[in-house]
Amino acid sequence: MSNDLGDLYQQVIIDHGRHPQNFHRLGDATRTVEGVNPLCGDLLTVYVKLLDDRIDDIAFEGAGCAISMASASLMTTALKGKRCEEALALFGFVHAMLTETPSDELPSAELGKLAVLSGVSAFPMRVKCATLAWHALRSALEGKNELVSSE
Ligand code: ZN
Repeated sequence: MSNDLGDLYQQVIIDHGRHPQNFHRLGDATRTVEGVNPLCGDLLTVYVKLLDDRIDDIAFEGAGCAISMASASLMTTALKGKRCEEALALFGFVHAMLTETPSDELPSAELGKLAVLSGVSAFPMRVKCATLAWHALRSALEGKNELVSSE
C-alpha cells in the first residue's frame, strides 16, 4: 500500500486488519452471506441476526487483505443496533465514498470512523477489497443467502 494514505487512516486500517472486531461465527444468525473478491483473494462470511427490522447482532469470519478485514470490522462495529434502512443508507454512503463522490460531500457525522476507508478510493485496485463486506451485507439485508462476488 502506498504512503499516500494518511498516517492516521492507514493506522486504523492496519489495527482493524490485524485485530478485527466481531470476528467470529454467529451461531444464531438469521442471514449468512459469503463474499469473495477473486482479484485479491479476499473471502469472508457475514453473519447478521435480524430482530424485527433491526440488526441485533452482526459478525464476520474470513481471510483476506488488511483492507477487506478492516472494512468488515469497521462495518460490524458501525452497524450493530442499526435499523435495516439505516444500514442500507450507510452502504450507499460508503459505496459512494469509495467509488464516486469526494469525501467532503458526504455526511461525515454519520460515517464516523468509516471515513477512514475514504483513503482507499485513491487505489482503484483495492476498492473491491473495501466494498466486499458491504456487498455481502446488502445481500443479507435483502434476504438473499448466497455467494456474492465483488466482480
Ligand atoms: Zn483485498
